[in-house]
Amino acid sequence: MFEIAELSQLDVIRTHPLVRSRILAEVDGLPIWELSIGSEEEQVPTLGLYAGIHGNERIGSQVLLAWLEHTLSCLAWDSSLQDRLKKMRIVSIPLINVTGLQQGTRATSKGIDLMRNAPIDAQEPYVWPLAGQKVSRFLPWYRGRTLAPESQALIDSVMQAHQKANFMMAMDLHSGFGANDRLWFPYAAHRMPPPHLAEAVALCDLFNQNYPLHDFYKIEPQSIHYTTHGDLWDYLYDKANTVNGSLLLPYTLEMGSWLWLRKNPRQFFQRFGLFHPMLPHRLRRVLRQHWTILDFLMRATADYEHWVPDELSRMSLHQAGIERWYRS
Ligand SMILES: [Zn+2]
Repeated sequence: MFEIAELSQLDVIRTHPLVRSRILAEVDGLPIWELSIGSEEEQVPTLGLYAGIHGNERIGSQVLLAWLEHTLSCLAWDSSLQDRLKKMRIVSIPLINVTGLQQGTRATSKGIDLMRNAPIDAQEPYVWPLAGQKVSRFLPWYRGRTLAPESQALIDSVMQAHQKANFMMAMDLHSGFGANDRLWFPYAAHRMPPPHLAEAVALCDLFNQNYPLHDFYKIEPQSIHYTTHGDLWDYLYDKANTVNGSLLLPYTLEMGSWLWLRKNPRQFFQRFGLFHPMLPHRLRRVLRQHWTILDFLMRATADYEHWVPDELSRMSLHQAGIERWYRS
């Protein structure tokens, strides 16, 4: 066991006067907290921000907690931010896999990899056991036999937030894959395009046109790289978008940790070294680097009506998405 600074940081944020909080579930006596900031009205656009699904990818929770602190601090004086949050809501679970965080493991204390745990099977070809396996909880990428309480808490929270939203975007922060920062959208289970490919193209173009110097993000469907069983965002995307007329557009931020490893190979042998920037100056850089995309997602959620494509332009944007990501 080691000291977990993120838990006390979360306590400070959730007791802020402008934050509403509730416990979604308790696992091994540890609470999973959900935070809400902004409008309490029904049917407002909602941004869902999630981290810590993999307990050893602590940087995701740290980036999210730092951004929430920054946003709450600005709320004290920034009238444009105050106005924005009067017409939208932020819902967040910064520490989902609390037992994995406590143990320093990717999986939960029951050995379950939450991103392989949803009741969805990948379509071939996929790579075993990376895609998820049901052989043993002592091997990596174990899918579990039933839905884990952490998965259930996330599903309940997202579905409730989505039900009360007229539009919802979600961002789930991870680290560990490749040398680039990637923004992934569904699907993970197969190579077919999602029904909202047009919206994915529109958001991708909006970000790249408005932030041309932030071209370090590779925006793409996850299935370009690998397919997996049990992806919770595949599950939530399909489930939410069949319930009512409002959209759920989920994204995963995969921070490219191989870059940190290349610059500091010694961290390969350190605890969390594969998933976390270990040198203080690099940690600070990573902590602030992603505030822009989080700010952008907040603004894009609040003003979604200004960029979400209409029926007329959806067809050509869908085609552009096919050319961009699905031709090869
Ligand atoms: Zn992860």
